[in-house]
Amino acid sequence: MTKQFFIISLLFSFSFASVNAQLLSEKTNFTRQDTLRGSITPERAWWDLTYYHLDITVNPDKKYISGKNTIQYKVLENNSVMQIDLQLPLKITKAIQNNKELEIKHDGNAHFINLVDVQNPNDINSVDVYYEGHPKEAVKAPWDGGISWAKDKNGNHFIASSCQGLGASVWWPCKDHMYDEVDSMLISVNVPDHLTNVSNGRLRSVEQTGDTKTYTWIVKNPINNYGVNINIGDYVNFSEVYDGEGGNLDMNYYVLRDNLEKAKEHFKDAPKMMKAFEHWFGQYPFYADSFKLVEVPYLGMEHQSSVTYGNQYKKGYLGNDWSGTGWGLKFDYIIIHEAGHEWFANNITYKDAADMWIHEGFTCYSESLFLDYYYGKKAASEYVIGIRRNIENDRPIIGFYNVNKEGSSDMYFKGANILHTLRQLIEDDEKWRQILRGLNRTFYHQTVTTKQIEDYISKETGIDLTEYFNQYLRTIKIPTLEYKIENKELKYRWTNIIDKFDMPVQVTINGKEEWLFPKADWKTKTLDTKNATFEIDPNFYINSKKL
Ligand SMILES: [Zn+2]
Repeated sequence: MTKQFFIISLLFSFSFASVNAQLLSEKTNFTRQDTLRGSITPERAWWDLTYYHLDITVNPDKKYISGKNTIQYKVLENNSVMQIDLQLPLKITKAIQNNKELEIKHDGNAHFINLVDVQNPNDINSVDVYYEGHPKEAVKAPWDGGISWAKDKNGNHFIASSCQGLGASVWWPCKDHMYDEVDSMLISVNVPDHLTNVSNGRLRSVEQTGDTKTYTWIVKNPINNYGVNINIGDYVNFSEVYDGEGGNLDMNYYVLRDNLEKAKEHFKDAPKMMKAFEHWFGQYPFYADSFKLVEVPYLGMEHQSSVTYGNQYKKGYLGNDWSGTGWGLKFDYIIIHEAGHEWFANNITYKDAADMWIHEGFTCYSESLFLDYYYGKKAASEYVIGIRRNIENDRPIIGFYNVNKEGSSDMYFKGANILHTLRQLIEDDEKWRQILRGLNRTFYHQTVTTKQIEDYISKETGIDLTEYFNQYLRTIKIPTLEYKIENKELKYRWTNIIDKFDMPVQVTINGKEEWLFPKADWKTKTLDTKNATFEIDPNFYINSKKL
């Protein structure tokens, strides 16, 4: 999920429209704050995150958070200034290392802590960062992000965090850049004792203090910042054990008390998802942390090992089908899409938001692979071709580097079609599946650049896809196959392409499938008959023009 997802919702008259326009206005004037947030500053580069213990109290009545984050890190090179991010109006109240309170220089949402003790390379050190305040409220979560302070039908507090894009520092102090994932994490959340907090990983302990309870969750795998979450409500729980590629996986479901029976039926899509995606992408990447679906008061988000769910127990996307083919109503969009992110977003994570298509392109494509697994290749093709109607080609898919700025929301539907077109070029579905699995193995629990992904696919397919990716990811040009048939001659060429783009394309001439190898210059093919029929394989995401 991203905050921009709903722009395409020409079909659906959601009330997001105004928020939408605002969020989507293309920002190209970047500020110092954008650079501090989006780049690997010298005050970030010298230390490598190893462990967090986020230990907070959430006061629902006051909409207030207070507590501390213990930030443990390995020193890579000597330095004495550490950048920690926390967004206003939250305030860092103090920072302590080895019992010494440290001086902090505040620069908007970035905070520079002056360390007193010498930082020797390879040392593992930690600093306690205390903070408190009223965090930004999410108005239209998950798109604008922050904390959603809602109530359930019975009047109980129903609270959740969401912060993709905006960043985790909207609700807790951290190193808020994607390149450096913490290796493991403890999340302790103190709440009124009639409520439950569900975070990532596994529940380690519940401690009662007065009329509050502290829920402590342990995450054993590397986790990205925006994946960390709190969900607080009157939850009930059910679970099952899934026999998967990595052995027994506990799948846990946390839903509001009144929705238990509905969820038991509806969440059958979750093990179905697991089966299809382990087939296509390989072993679920977080067996050590379990898999959870957690009901929230907003649509949903790919929080690692605790995927959040708010699709109103409907099929499709709130009951709608992005593809218009009917196939999109065969599954709960949020269960399939957000859980698909466990492989592409949580396992393979972008280093820079400019490369967000690695998360959204592959995950949008995963929806079609889910259909492929249960309904066959034709259904999958129809779905992915159907979703093209949502592509805008307004700006490139790749965004702006070092300023935390993603590219066009075309990263979803166009991203999926880029991958679907690649599958046609490879012409070997098993090989394609092994590439998808190979990506998840090769970049297991890593942060990557799009270049690494592009190079890997080029290498494994044996096709130099440099210009293919440049065309589709870095321009808004859609290759156009121009052709004319005169007597027994077919003439064809590519237009609207970048230099050196020469993708082959599959066509059917007089009922016979064959490959054409168009270039920018006209090519001629002699046909067997006059007035030959000519069709372009619709699985290729291109335009065509008959002259
Ligand atoms: Zn997504």
